[in-house]
Amino acid sequence: MAVVEVVNEAPKQGMLKNVMQEFDAACDFIHLNPNIKRILSVPNNELIIHFPVRMDNGEIEIFKGYRVQHNNALGPYKGGLRYHPTIDIDSVKALAMWMTWKTSLAGLPYGGAKGGIQMDPKKYSNSELERITRRFAFALGDNIGPEHDIPAPDVNTNAQTMAWIADTYMSTKAPAERSKNMHVVTGKPVGSGGLEGRDRATGYGVFLTIRCWAENKKLDLKGRTFIVQGFGNVGYWASHFLQQVGAKLVAVQDAFGTIANVNGLEVESLLDYTTSHDGSIVGFPGSEVVANDDFFGLNCDIFIPAALGNQITEARARQIKAFLIAEGANGPTTFESEKILNERGIDIIPDILCNSGGVIGSYFEWLQNRNGELWDLDEVMTKIEKKITEVFKKVYETSQIKNIDLRLAAYVIAIERIEKAYIQRGIFP
Ligand code: NAD
Repeated sequence: MAVVEVVNEAPKQGMLKNVMQEFDAACDFIHLNPNIKRILSVPNNELIIHFPVRMDNGEIEIFKGYRVQHNNALGPYKGGLRYHPTIDIDSVKALAMWMTWKTSLAGLPYGGAKGGIQMDPKKYSNSELERITRRFAFALGDNIGPEHDIPAPDVNTNAQTMAWIADTYMSTKAPAERSKNMHVVTGKPVGSGGLEGRDRATGYGVFLTIRCWAENKKLDLKGRTFIVQGFGNVGYWASHFLQQVGAKLVAVQDAFGTIANVNGLEVESLLDYTTSHDGSIVGFPGSEVVANDDFFGLNCDIFIPAALGNQITEARARQIKAFLIAEGANGPTTFESEKILNERGIDIIPDILCNSGGVIGSYFEWLQNRNGELWDLDEVMTKIEKKITEVFKKVYETSQIKNIDLRLAAYVIAIERIEKAYIQRGIFP
């Protein structure tokens, strides 16, 4: 497919405002120590790199890459790398901050970071993408590291991207040091130090949190309808697991367009279709095309945003028919929109809980590499299920006890854990 149309020009500005508003609300609620609030309000390190890469036609192009390390009070920085035209320093800062809350909430020994390259990867050949990635990894140098800052896949990056980064990073080390640096990134291919099941970990986590929510509401997921924005790693796998328990995917929107079928879109056939159509869902047999603006108001029980941030604006919040929003994406709901959704009685499983299966899977991969172990798929899926279920329970109970929504409850748990670490350790000097 030649034409690449961006469906929703993802509002990049505002993600930082959004995460700060969420953070402020949580700080007010728990009366966070103002000194600790000051520390957590800004990232520890912000890195912007311009690096040259030779294109297939022999010309040199300069790329802009980012890595923001927000906080490492609980352990090494951790967070994905995104390749997207809308990436800028503020959006990366916001995404890094969400990672700090996410890893803390999940009880992992990590801090938060995020990064990426400002570009549209669809415009480059595979060999160009390899050179861009390797040159970016080289430019990052020892600003990343297996015990310091550990990137992972995010939008438009995948296991192949991680394999290139691991190989480049390891190649810069002395021969005897190379293998012990394999856990510099997670989300690698299974044959190259990757974890069985890491590919599905985020979507599985999204599904598990929906299942936990439904169990608490005594609601059967069989026959329930859902719509998904973004049919990439997270959107596909979440749909896969929901379909397995009898829920029905009735509409999908991606970067190319919107399709629907009230009788259901078969998830595996749709995946097959996208792999042979440059990643696009448009034209899937048996589906009807829906105007992009009408997507949010479609009839359904569950809505899974699994694309970019700030997609649920105030106007869209008023249109949504679902009774549950499960945030596969990071920061899909704006602060103001959330008030509207709350007033309308629509529940939200917040991103830092809903999509935390990814970083939990990454943690297992990191442990596996560090300890020289190999775990099988069943073991990984069982461990993810146990972890996510525990975290969901904690968030749900906190929300009930304190009479607050799930997002605020998740923030309270996440921030209190970091606050405790600062209080125990003090501030140097
Ligand atoms: P991906 O690149 O695999 O897929 C992204 C999907 O979003 C694609 O289907 C794409 O067509 C669609 N999309 C892009 N721009 C769009 C637009 N403007 N309008 C509608 N659809 C659009 O990415 P992913 O890894 O699935 O990540 C999706 C979201 O989940 C992101 O917000 C990411 O930060 C979050 N997330 C990912 C992981 C992970 O492990 N991959 C973990 C946690 C959170």
